[in-house]
Amino acid sequence: MTEAKHPLDLPIDLQEALDATVADVSAYQGQGVLPSYLPSLTQVNPRKLGIAVALGDGRTFAAGDADEAFSIQSISNVFSLSLALQHVGGSLWNHVGKEASGSAVNSVVQLELEKGKPRNPLINAGAMVVDDQLIGHDSPDVAVNELMEFLRERCGDCTVEIDQSVAISESQGGSLNRSLAHYMAAFNNLSHPVEDVVSVYFRQCAIAMTCRQLAKAALYLAFDGTDPLTGDQILLASRARRILALMVTCGHYDNSGDFAFRIGLPGKSGVSGGILAIVPRVGAIAAWSPGLNSAGTSLTGSIMLEKLVERTGWSIFA
Ligand code: GLN
Repeated sequence: MTEAKHPLDLPIDLQEALDATVADVSAYQGQGVLPSYLPSLTQVNPRKLGIAVALGDGRTFAAGDADEAFSIQSISNVFSLSLALQHVGGSLWNHVGKEASGSAVNSVVQLELEKGKPRNPLINAGAMVVDDQLIGHDSPDVAVNELMEFLRERCGDCTVEIDQSVAISESQGGSLNRSLAHYMAAFNNLSHPVEDVVSVYFRQCAIAMTCRQLAKAALYLAFDGTDPLTGDQILLASRARRILALMVTCGHYDNSGDFAFRIGLPGKSGVSGGILAIVPRVGAIAAWSPGLNSAGTSLTGSIMLEKLVERTGWSIFA
């Protein structure tokens, strides 16, 4: 009888696969558009590209600019959601839905139609509701510190910081996000002042991390909410599973279907061109390339993930 293979016994050399993946996308380097509504994100070199994988046994592999920090933008929503669920549990779902939005990440129209209850926690309005719950009885600064400490501990690097120039730019260009927050306040779906809520949201979008740090930080999502290295339970398994479900259906705004079709992994995109993807029972992948497609997902980053998944067979639908 042959022994069942452990998922971490990879059928290929992962370093070679990452190097080949970066080489594959050289023709796309620099393509896509930078988000003009956030001036700080137009100052990056659009030719940057990197990818990193963190495995459950502690190994990390990386290629390209995987050790260069970028603002993780709404990838942070996955982590704030984890913390808010720890704080308030299932009552969070009284304030935010679980359905794919099929709309732009910052759609006001949808929020009006649905009376101030955002479709899901991974779009901007939903992330702000999550932040409102995360603040709870504390201050916005305490909520931000909790999120920072969580990320530092998860990735094992206490130097992770907020990029203050990005945070200022988020606030200066934040009219639409403030409008979303005011809409929710008008429908009594926020319990703190709009400025308190957006101050958490703008700072979480400006957290600067590298692909390697990001992949390590998200490992608990690949292992039923448990840190695979220490065995510590970070999040209830049932909640980790639900976050993955939301990442599949809602992680990339109105191109979540395209991402599931092409890559087949739970994921979350940010407008800085970062993408986090989870390979259940194996590990986490972070890809970064600043140019975006028309829906706001990294153009080259998503192609890198597609190529890597073709090589590794990691699609959850395989
Ligand atoms: N800071 C961005 C915004 O609020 C984050 C959106 C995103 O990454 N999708 O628009």
